[in-house]
Amino acid sequence: MKVLSVASEAFPLIKTGGLADVVGALPSALTGCGVEMRVFLPGYPEVLSQVKKPPKAIKLPKVLGTEGRILPVLVSGIDCLILDVPELFDRPGGPYTDVGGNDHADNWRRFAVFSKAAALVADGLVPSWRPDIVHVHDWQAALVPLYMETTGASGTPTVMTVHNLAFQGQFDSKHFALMELEKSAFAMDGLEYYGDISYLKAGLHRAHAITTVSPTYAQEIRTPEFGMGLEGVVNARSGDLFGIVNGIDTDIWNPASDPHIAGHFDTARRTKRKVNQKALIEHFELDKQAKGPIFTLITRLTWQKGIDVLIESIDDIVAMGGRLAILGSGDKALEGALLGAAARHRGKFGIQLGYDEPLSHLLQAGGDAILVPSRFEPCGLTQLYGLRYGCVPVVARTGGLADTIIDANEAALAAGVATGFQFGPVTADGLRQTVRRVIRTFDDKKTWSRIQQNGMRADVSWTRSAESYTQLYQALIEKSRT
Ligand code: ADP
Repeated sequence: MKVLSVASEAFPLIKTGGLADVVGALPSALTGCGVEMRVFLPGYPEVLSQVKKPPKAIKLPKVLGTEGRILPVLVSGIDCLILDVPELFDRPGGPYTDVGGNDHADNWRRFAVFSKAAALVADGLVPSWRPDIVHVHDWQAALVPLYMETTGASGTPTVMTVHNLAFQGQFDSKHFALMELEKSAFAMDGLEYYGDISYLKAGLHRAHAITTVSPTYAQEIRTPEFGMGLEGVVNARSGDLFGIVNGIDTDIWNPASDPHIAGHFDTARRTKRKVNQKALIEHFELDKQAKGPIFTLITRLTWQKGIDVLIESIDDIVAMGGRLAILGSGDKALEGALLGAAARHRGKFGIQLGYDEPLSHLLQAGGDAILVPSRFEPCGLTQLYGLRYGCVPVVARTGGLADTIIDANEAALAAGVATGFQFGPVTADGLRQTVRRVIRTFDDKKTWSRIQQNGMRADVSWTRSAESYTQLYQALIEKSRT
């Protein structure tokens, strides 16, 4: 079965968050299920710099007034089709923002061109390769099903995965006239959204199936609290909505061979984590003598991630004997407040602002517990990496966090199945109480060790989820034939 995966990020080519990890891991995860997946990706400078010698480029017909080409290339084992349109993608800054951190003003056009080009690939633009399924990710690719209705590929089934419903690709409707879509697409069951246009909404209406990255989030987004204004659309499609939890790439995230950490370890040799803890303490200039656990956090610094709640709790976490090491970047106000707290608690709280892939591995390998206090979390990956690396997850009871971590309550401890700690609601009080529970458990070495071991043994691989995606693809293909 041939599947075209369309996404704006894929690790290791380009990454700003979990979307990249998932898109980068899916192709090899699905190989064992008989799926041949090619990933359609924009040609950002970081991506193009990894293309050594592409085979013959494929010319793209004029799309929204721009010309470009498609580069079929194998990078890090991922079979990529890179959309090379220098005018739109080969520029400084991030995938979505300029060097100043502001959204590129032409994002509406960049991702409309991207989606229409993908629809042309769905319609056989790449010689001898026509996909049986088109799987699109998030708002940047959400127009693909709509564009496929205008190419010859309308019969090919589409799946749209929502990695985060908060990001919707909402733009001024004045752009619609230039998008090369039928007038009828500007409608309630299309792009129109309170007078604006919403790319994600169009995908939610037009994809044959919708998946999101955990069963709990699939239910949550049907409610006003989590639906981000789209709960009506989501409910209208509830018969075609599925929750498939993310796995992780267990080769890249393997503490027994990880090149980014100070010492290798596995479930049987957990004491070897110590070398990593030492390296972490040195990197963040933490107090060497303290006895309490080291809490880590690797995250975008935003309201979604509950960082304001954490900031409110830092003084108490330190007072209870915890140490903290944080890696993240995001809102300037949150960054400033965290730097202030770090200055107040030298030796107890270290922070590094910015994006640092290798350091994110060391934090998992050397920390005692990873905090994930998100207000909502479609799946979350850092808690899964935490499980695998023995960095016990302490998570908010929401979305994929609720689905992947077993709270160390009395029943779970008695049954010997706990893998971490859950708390809710996401308030400073809730977090403080849970941190107190974590520190108490940390002092009980036998219980802590059991929780850590359970986590390291948990199946966080893609195996089960890859089967679920394959079954969904097969069901859609069968349905399209009847
Ligand atoms: P989201 O996609 O909402 O940001 P996830 O938990 O799903 O959250 O995925 C985040 C991914 O990005 C993880 O792989 C995490 O390790 C990584 N990450 C987040 N912030 C940083 C950072 N500052 N430096 C390195 N990696 C980071």
